[in-house]
Amino acid sequence: MNIKHGKVVIAGGGLAGISAAVYLSEKGYEVELFESTPKLGGRTFSYIDKFSNRIYDNGKHILAGWYKDTLDLLELLNTKDKLFKNRNLFLRFYDNNKDIHELDGRGFSGKAGLIKALLKYKKLNFNDIYSISKVIYACNFRTKKFITAANLKEILESTNQTANSLEYFWKPFSVSIFNTSTENVSTKLFARVIDDALYEKGNLDLLVPTESLHNIFIDSAHRYFLKKGIKLSLSRRIVSVNTSGNKVTHLEDSYGNKIEGDAYILALPFWKAGEFENIFNLNGKKLQSSTIITIHIFTLDKEIINELFIDEQPMVGFLDTTIDWAFKESNNHFSIVISGADNIKSPISGKVLTDCPKEEIFGLCISDLIKSLRDFSFPLIDKYKVIKEKRATFIPDTGSDELRPGNKSKYDNLFFAGDWTDTGYPSTIESAVKSGKTCSKLINETRI
Ligand SMILES: Cc1cc2nc3c(=O)[nH]c(=O)nc-3n(C[C@H](O)[C@H](O)[C@H](O)COP(=O)(O)OP(=O)(O)OC[C@H]3O[C@@H](n4cnc5c(N)ncnc54)[C@H](O)[C@@H]3O)c2cc1C
Repeated sequence: MNIKHGKVVIAGGGLAGISAAVYLSEKGYEVELFESTPKLGGRTFSYIDKFSNRIYDNGKHILAGWYKDTLDLLELLNTKDKLFKNRNLFLRFYDNNKDIHELDGRGFSGKAGLIKALLKYKKLNFNDIYSISKVIYACNFRTKKFITAANLKEILESTNQTANSLEYFWKPFSVSIFNTSTENVSTKLFARVIDDALYEKGNLDLLVPTESLHNIFIDSAHRYFLKKGIKLSLSRRIVSVNTSGNKVTHLEDSYGNKIEGDAYILALPFWKAGEFENIFNLNGKKLQSSTIITIHIFTLDKEIINELFIDEQPMVGFLDTTIDWAFKESNNHFSIVISGADNIKSPISGKVLTDCPKEEIFGLCISDLIKSLRDFSFPLIDKYKVIKEKRATFIPDTGSDELRPGNKSKYDNLFFAGDWTDTGYPSTIESAVKSGKTCSKLINETRI
């Protein structure tokens, strides 16, 4: 360890806290990270079942070529090679006529790649593609040609999108990237994502983890912390931030310990802001959350895996169904993802999916697979697990902008990290990692 600067105390060990710790350590700071739970990773973690020797994620996390800061972090953590890369957009979908449709932009990048992919996508005709391209070309973040609509739904209405483009392009686009429906997506965030995704070669790549989140982010972070001498205190909840004048003097944990440093980063999740009202000043308002449901299926029947994942593609989508995506986890394990589950009613009980029993959600999954796959017969299930992450992401609606604090606070030595800080990105890994990196830069610039 080569300490050149002061000591930075970080509260929160999700990806934002990990990113801040790594980048500060790279710059020669002494770092101590406090995490309230017994594990690192926050919303990015894996269950490890020692009894059956199985490891499975709380939900598949997809990265994209435009996740530049995340890819840089993975380089430092030495796990960048653990991602399956589809060069320029490539996605395969099943519909409920058991037909396969491909969005295939391979060979081209940026807007040309997207248009090529749309032309190949049999669900859309020329008019559908024309209506989509009107939005893509008008929504340019970097040149600030904003469309004067409040949200994505208004953009789509004002550009007369066709029924097919709404159902087979914008709906899957909105739930996969923003985990919510189009009326909840602010124009600003939408324009930023479109612009970044189409900005330069490689940005449209989809990157699918080939190992567990534990291996890619958490275990590697532990190893990095150990090597660089970053002090990690697990099961230590920060309960107060104490200030004097324009400085933070210390944090306090739930055991009453006083924790002192030269600078402090709060890398807490959005739903914790209310506990530090004096610091975040959100006037009692809070960001709303959105659920992601993941169903892990362990099967003895390899045929289902072979039918789902053709040509080694580890990810397939579904159209006209409740389920959104399936991911190949191993030769006897796949997972199914349902995004924005708070807005979906179960066709079986009519209840909102988030409130449905796990057996019903599993039944829905199987019934959607039967609808979508040609040779599907009820697979021999060894085990299944349904994981409901009710606070997976915040809803990025127009009102969310004013509830996202910047990375610099009103105190000289206090900084905010977290996917919900004002990074310009939706609730994603990239937003979390970027926020941590930005805090490290700000601290370095203030020469703490
Ligand atoms: C199922 C699921 C699927 C997802 N899919 C994707 C995807 O495909 N692509 C993508 O980019 N993003 C995805 N996300 C979102 C992504 O996981 C989050 O945006 C990101 O992990 C947020 O990181 P964070 O560090 O900002 O917050 P968190 O991960 O919430 O970390 C905050 C940490 O602070 C700790 N903490 C809270 N209070 C205290 C306290 N008082 N003292 C100390 N510590 C405290 C918490 O325990 C937690 O560890 C998904 C999320 C889920 C749940």
